[in-house]
Amino acid sequence: YDDRDGYIWMDGEFVPWRDTKVHVLTHALHYASSVFEGERAYNGKIFRSLDHSKRLHNSAEIMGFDIPFTVEQIEEAKREALAKSGLDSAYVRAIAWRGSEMMGVSAQNNTIHLAIAAWSWGDYFKDKMKGIRMTHAQWRRPAPDTAPCHAKAAGLYMICTLSKHAAERDGYADALMLDYRGQVAEATGANIFFVRDGALHTPTPDCFLNGLTRQTAIKLAKERQIEVIERAIMPDELPTFSECFITGSAAEITPVAEIGVHSYKPGQISEALVEDYSNLVNGKLEVAL
Ligand code: PMP
Repeated sequence: YDDRDGYIWMDGEFVPWRDTKVHVLTHALHYASSVFEGERAYNGKIFRSLDHSKRLHNSAEIMGFDIPFTVEQIEEAKREALAKSGLDSAYVRAIAWRGSEMMGVSAQNNTIHLAIAAWSWGDYFKDKMKGIRMTHAQWRRPAPDTAPCHAKAAGLYMICTLSKHAAERDGYADALMLDYRGQVAEATGANIFFVRDGALHTPTPDCFLNGLTRQTAIKLAKERQIEVIERAIMPDELPTFSECFITGSAAEITPVAEIGVHSYKPGQISEALVEDYSNLVNGKLEVAL
């Protein structure tokens, strides 16, 4: 994605897209000292922008580094990056990482960098309203004492990429990851919800991201008087649910048609929440978040 026109905001200034380079001895490249956000703008405004900027700061803190820009400066930089892109609807990627002055696991004094790019990115999944086909991942979400699971940190995406690639190799769109206890956790880049008897069931986010879209979906469901149950969900419950969907800033709300041998019909509840989410992000629905 490097050979394009346009500009990326990097360390306080706009740099031509093709010139936003990092050195090959960058700490983040070797040791995954990088945190990021994936956000979407609708009608020229980033949805839950402030929450994303705060999460970026929090992820960096968990990883033991300080981003040399305040949350408000990041907000301003994102607004500028979006305006400079000329796009109304865009995907916005903010990323902070440890630089390249010193080599080795420590390199504690390396400069922390921040970049913000905005580009056009349509639906994360093709034919999303048909419901995506998911398989089971071979990798599990690590325990909270094995990895800093509440940071949106690059290192945690190694198991996501491996799982996603294996799924795609077998013709699936995504994979369901279990956690270290064998409980249902999430997809490779989105949280997961199920429907049974008119109620929503979703895993408690105690070892993976409590996604902003997940929190939004819960609010939207409650607005519709739909009961939301956060709890441990075991894989042997998969055949007991009627609907399933995943949530993420990129995926938005995407119905799931299949997880392995289990089938789901994108039904009333999924469709209502997809519509509410679309209305909310486009400013056609007011909900206190
Ligand atoms: N889990 C993972 C692994 C993700 O990458 C994402 C996307 N950031 C999510 C959940 C959903 O988070 P959000 O709704 O805040 O985008």
